[in-house]
This record gives sequence, C-alpha cells and structure tokens, in this order.
Amino acid sequence: MKMEEHMRTDLKRVPTMKIFDFAFFTKSIEGIVELTIGEPDFNTPEHVKEAGMAAIANNRTHYAPQRGTAGLLSAISDDVAKKIGKVYDPATEILVTNGVTEGAYAAVTAITNPGDVILVPTPTFSIYMADAAIAGGTAVEVDTSKTNFRLTPELIQSYLDEYGDRVKGLVVVNPTNPTGIAMNQDELDAIADVVRDKPIFVIADEIYDQLAYTEGADQYPSIVKSLPEQTILLNGFSKSYAMTGWRVAYMCAPKPITDELFKVHGFAVTDVATFVQDAAEEALRNGQEDPAAMRAQYRERRNVLYQGLQELGWETTNPEGAFYIFAKIPDYLEQDDEKFAYDLAEKAKVAVTPGSYFGAGGEGYVRFSYATDLNVIKTALDRLQKYCAARR
Ligand code: PLP
Repeated sequence: MKMEEHMRTDLKRVPTMKIFDFAFFTKSIEGIVELTIGEPDFNTPEHVKEAGMAAIANNRTHYAPQRGTAGLLSAISDDVAKKIGKVYDPATEILVTNGVTEGAYAAVTAITNPGDVILVPTPTFSIYMADAAIAGGTAVEVDTSKTNFRLTPELIQSYLDEYGDRVKGLVVVNPTNPTGIAMNQDELDAIADVVRDKPIFVIADEIYDQLAYTEGADQYPSIVKSLPEQTILLNGFSKSYAMTGWRVAYMCAPKPITDELFKVHGFAVTDVATFVQDAAEEALRNGQEDPAAMRAQYRERRNVLYQGLQELGWETTNPEGAFYIFAKIPDYLEQDDEKFAYDLAEKAKVAVTPGSYFGAGGEGYVRFSYATDLNVIKTALDRLQKYCAARR
C-alpha cells in the first residue's frame, strides 16, 4: 500500500520549489560564484541584535500576544502611516507574522474557497501559487512578459473577463521578484480602478519597498493609497533590515478582514517569538537609517551588473527595485533556461536562477541577484563574458 496516494489531492498540485534543488546543486560546485540568493548578504544591524539579546536576558521568552506585542504593533502602525499615509489601528488592524511567507499563506487561505481563483502575476516568487493550491483554489498566472513585466489594467481585465466571479484575489508584488520592476503610484492607481468595488481582495506584497532606486521611489507608492478597504498589506523585516532568519513581518487590513486573517494566523502559528518582536521594534524605532545605507550599496551593485550585462549585449529588465535583474538568454546560447543555468554553473562556475522557476513568462530568462558582494558580481561578469565569447 502506498500511503502517499491517500494524501490530499489539492496538495499534489502545489508547485515544488525547484529553486532549492538548484541551490543544492550549485553549492556542490567548488569555486562557484552565486548570483542566485534572494537574501541580503548584510548582517542584521548591531543595535537590532543587541535589542534581541537584551530581550532574552530580560526573560522576554514567554508566549507573546497572538496579534503581536503592543510595542511592535504600535511601531508598525507609525511606520506604515509615515510611509504611505494610512493609519492602521495597532490593536485591531495589524498582525505580526512569521515572515511575509506566513502573511501570504494567511491572506490567501483566508480568502480562498475550493474552486476560487487567485490571480498571480508572473513571473513571481512562487509562494502565492502554492498557497492557493493548498487552499483548494487555483492560482491563475497572469503572464506579464508581453507587457514588459509590468502589470497593466488591460491585462488584469482580460483575466477578469475569462474567470468572472471565481476571482477572489489579485496579488500585487511591488517592487517585484524576480524582475526588479517597480510600479509607480499612477500604475498602481490604474490597477486599483479595475478591481474597485468588486468582491476581490488585493494582496499587496511590499517586502521590497525600501529597495527602490528610481526617482520618486522614496514616496513609497502603494496600492493601499488607492484601495485601502480591499487591500491586505504585507511587509516585513527580512529584506529592509537584513533579518531573514528572525522570521518577522506583518500584515495590515481593515478590522473585519484582520479578524478573519487572525483565525488562520492564531491557529497556525500562535505568535512570533517575543524577543524577535522586541528586536523588530528596535529596527523600526531606531533603525530608520539602516535600509538607506544598504540601499546605497545595492544601487552601486545594480549599476555594475546592469552595465556589465548591457556590454555583453544581454537584453534585461530595467532594474528599478528589489535586488534582481531578469535577463533574456541570448539567441546563440541554450534557450531552455533550466538547461542553460545548469550548464553555466558547471562550465563557467556562475550560478543564476532559471526564469521558468518563477512561472509563466519566465521561460528563456534567468534571474541575477545582486544581493552579493561587488567583487562576486565582477567575477561573475568576467566568467559570463568568457562563456558567451566561446559560444558565439
Ligand atoms: N515575498 C517576496 C516577493 C519575496 O521575494 C520573498 C523572499 O524572497 C518573500 C515574500 C518572503 O519573505 P519573508 O522572509 O518575510 O518570509
């Protein structure tokens, strides 16, 4: 008897994270330079670590309130208000989550009944597709490759026409992973207009909001500004404060929605560790300069990588945010992005992530991450240049 055959059928539809298998493979190659990693190479700022350690020393090691500590909830409320001008009530409209990963899970599973459709613009970080499948729904991939990887109102409308009332949610990640595209407020307002007053939630993942490089980015464009009543806002500390391993983030939504989200969060996760929340509070209260310092370095790395790829004649996205460049594999090279990435890793010792791992529209592309040292980027460009030259 094969017990796995008796497991949930909808779980079998969950996409696997090939990305991890690929990372496992590249790690086994000696001397490889990795432009695959979607996490800051910086360490958590010292004052934040100290706050976490002091909290442990002070026995802040018991269960935390399930929605979050009063201190962190209020710091989040203040920070969100400062950035995007929307005041969320700390007591009823914010939940502290175990990473945006948990926020995404809570948001998608709380709004999806079996058979429902969640529109997920792709290429994307695949948690949203998995969450919809776990909930028994269907993630429909909105392929943005024909609109320069930008989500447009027309594109969304075409999917609404096709799927009608089944659509319960639209995911908007901005700036986005893996393309580095950052939409401005006008673009977000236009997207909001398409779903306004329809029974559709927008799940706005703004985890890269501090990592936007173009003019006006410091104004924090957000779909919350145009659609507060229908939006579930997700954000966190992993990227902005180099706190990936702490597992702390948050979600904000109007009270009745938050009450429903709380049911998933409270029963699945209970709470985020108390001392972790104290450290996150320190980051928001006294670390307002930390993201800017890292952003300056990412910008420099982006410029070097972008310039280098242009000089090699690669066609790429214009990287406006996050720490990724999505690049089309030139015609004279292997066009299957997975085969290409494995070959490049083996022969040139350069690791980049296959574009198809991010869903529809990613085929024929690879993702370069510049969350890595400038010297690593320069070495990668040098090796890539030799690899390309040998195959022209
Ligand atoms: N959302 C996006 C768009 C991401 O790229 C990532 C990580 O790469 C996450 C969420 C996960 O964030 P967290 O570490 O807060 O779970």
